[in-house]
Amino acid sequence: MLDHRKLPRRVGIYCRLSYAPDGSLEKVERQETDCRQLGARLDWPISEQHVYVDNSRSAWQRNRKRPAWDRMLEAVEAGYEGDGIDGLLIYHGDRLIRQPYDLETLIGLAEHKGFRVASPSGTRDLDSPDDRYILRIEAAGACREVDALVRRVRRANQMLAEKGLRRGGGRYRPFGFGVETGRVVVRQGRRPGQGERLVPEVDWNQVRPDEAKLIVQAAERLLAGQRTYAIARWLSTRCSTTAGNPWSRPALRAMLLSPRIAGLTEYEGTLYRAVWDPIISHEMWEGVRAVYRHNAEAQPHRGRERRSLLSGVAECGRGCGGRFRAASGGRRKASRLYACEGCGLARNMQYVDAWVEGHVVQLLQDPRLAEELARGAGRPGVAAEIGALEARKAELERVIEQAADDPDVDPVLAMRTLAGYKRRLDGLRQELAGSSRLRMVGRLMGVSREEWEAEPVDVRSAVVAALFRVVIMPVGRRGPGFDPSSVLVERRLGEGG
Ligand SMILES: [Zn+2]
Repeated sequence: MLDHRKLPRRVGIYCRLSYAPDGSLEKVERQETDCRQLGARLDWPISEQHVYVDNSRSAWQRNRKRPAWDRMLEAVEAGYEGDGIDGLLIYHGDRLIRQPYDLETLIGLAEHKGFRVASPSGTRDLDSPDDRYILRIEAAGACREVDALVRRVRRANQMLAEKGLRRGGGRYRPFGFGVETGRVVVRQGRRPGQGERLVPEVDWNQVRPDEAKLIVQAAERLLAGQRTYAIARWLSTRCSTTAGNPWSRPALRAMLLSPRIAGLTEYEGTLYRAVWDPIISHEMWEGVRAVYRHNAEAQPHRGRERRSLLSGVAECGRGCGGRFRAASGGRRKASRLYACEGCGLARNMQYVDAWVEGHVVQLLQDPRLAEELARGAGRPGVAAEIGALEARKAELERVIEQAADDPDVDPVLAMRTLAGYKRRLDGLRQELAGSSRLRMVGRLMGVSREEWEAEPVDVRSAVVAALFRVVIMPVGRRGPGFDPSSVLVERRLGEGG
C-alpha cells in the first residue's frame, strides 16, 4: 500500500479532540506528536503553517463549527502550487477518517492532485481507487458502529419502559419513593480519590407512606382549585424536597406531573404501567394534568408574575382584535394605564379596575350565583373517564404501531378512531378545567370588598375572567374622571346577571 512513486512536497497535520470507542478522550497534543513521528518516519516534510487543530469537544460532529478542518480543506484545494498542501498526516481514533461525509469532501477536493494521506494505520493515495475503496469501507464501518450503539441504547430504554422499569437518571430520590432495604452496598465516591464507602441500599420502587400521603393531599388541593403557590407553601411546612429545598411552584409541578406518582412510566410519549405501586390513581393524575394545562392556557403571563388585574383579560371594543396590557404613561409618570396592544387605545388603570371589581364583589354576594355554581359543579367521574380514554388511546396507538405492515388492520379506520378519542379527550379536559374554575369562584362566594382586595392579583384576575367579559370601548368623555359607559362588563357564567 505504501506508494514509493513520489513523496508529497508540503504536508499538513490535522488533529481534533475526539472520543475513542472506549469512551476516553484522545488528547490533541498526543495526536500531534504521533503525526510528527509518523511524518519523520515517512520522510514527509511537515509545514508548520499547515498544522490544524480543532480542540472543541464536539469537533467530530459535522454540524458543529470546525474552523481548523475548514482551513485545512482550503489548503487541500489550493494544492502545492497554490501554497497549500499535497499531503496530510491525520490521526483520530482507530480510523483515518471516521465520517463518510468528511471523507467524501476530502476526496472531492483532492481529486487528480496525487494527494496523499497518512495515519498510523497506513498511508493512502486519494487518487488510487483501491485506497479510496478501503477508506470508504473504514468510514462506513465506523459510522455503523455509532448507529448500532445508538440503537442499542434506545432499545434498552424502551425495554425498560415496557417492563415498567425506568433507569433512575436523577440525582435525587423521587419524592414519595425510596425505602431502605436494611442492607448496605459499596459505592464508589463521586470524585477521584474519594474511594469506596458503604451506603444503605435503597429500593427506589418502594412507596414511602409518609410522603405518599402528602402527594395525595397536594393533588386533592390542586383539583379543589387551590392555587399552586399556596399548595407549595403548605407542603413546605410539612417537608422539604428530596434535594433539601423548600417546595417551589416548579418543584411542585414537576412532582405532580411525573407519571411515576400514578404508577406509570413514560417512554417517547407512551405511558406504560410501572412495577411500583401508584400513589394517586391514573384518573386523578389525568385531572392534575388537565388543571395544569388549563392554568397554562388561562395565564398568558406564563412565567412572569401578574401585576395588573385586566392585562390580557380586557378586550378592545374598537374592533382591532387586540387585548389590553399594562403600560405606564400619561403626563404623570405615576399614572398607570391599560393600552390596547392592537390600536393603542389607553385607559386609566385605577378607574377601570375599581369599576370592574365593584361588579365582581357585588356578584359574589348574589345567591343566584351560588346556585349557578352548584348546578355547573361538573359531573362526577370526568377525571376517571379521561383516564380510561387515555388508556384506550395508548393501547390503540400501540396496535397501530405494531401492525404497520399488517394487512388486517385498516390504517385509515384506526387513525380515524384515534382522532375521535383525541376530540373526546379535549372536550373532557375542558369540562374538568371548567369545573375547577367554578370551584375557584365558589371559594370566594360572599367575600367583602376588603377580603376580595386581600386576594392575590392572579386569583382576582382569574375570577374576573371566569365571571365577566370586559370590553374597553373607544367612547366616553375626554378629560379627567371616569365614564362608566367606556367599559362594558358582561356576565359570562350561565344566564344570570
Ligand atoms: Zn384596540
